[in-house]
Amino acid sequence: MAIRKIARLGHPVLRETARELSREEISSPELKRLVRDMIDTMHDYGGVGLAAPQVHESVRLAIIEFSADNERYENDDGQPLLVIINARVKVLDETISGFWEGCLSVPGMRGYVERPSKIEVNYLDERGKPKTLVADGFLATVFQHELDHLDGVLYVDKITDKSKFTFNEEFARYHAPEAADEQDEGEPE
Ligand code: ZN
Repeated sequence: MAIRKIARLGHPVLRETARELSREEISSPELKRLVRDMIDTMHDYGGVGLAAPQVHESVRLAIIEFSADNERYENDDGQPLLVIINARVKVLDETISGFWEGCLSVPGMRGYVERPSKIEVNYLDERGKPKTLVADGFLATVFQHELDHLDGVLYVDKITDKSKFTFNEEFARYHAPEAADEQDEGEPE
């Protein structure tokens, strides 16, 4: 088990365009090790996704995994581990969905980001096998967040209403759905 150091906002690696992985690289022991380390790192930090540039590897690789009972996203279905290599994204529905996003590279903060609500992703899995996946809801947002990392884009770039960029403590106090519920008595659970 190896937990890698996560690059934080301001580190130049987060602003680079990551390069594609070759067939040879995908089947290499080095890539298997990198994927394992990324999984360990994501679990240790408690993230729902991680892109390779966040662990200082500027290649087009990301992982996503979250459980249905994740306390932050309990209204969404869980997502078993996905290893996503050389992904291409196509927007299927331009309708915008907004979610409060966080990022292991921007610790302690949360921001409200609007993105297309339904996408198709074509990618290679950890064995180099081509895959197509249609994602909507929270999973579509996680995909777009992670794949943005490969183009040097962070969620903070996409917050249009800067009053919705907050520390976690202030999020819980003033912006969380539970905080709104408290002010909105009589609303069914
Ligand atoms: Zn991130």
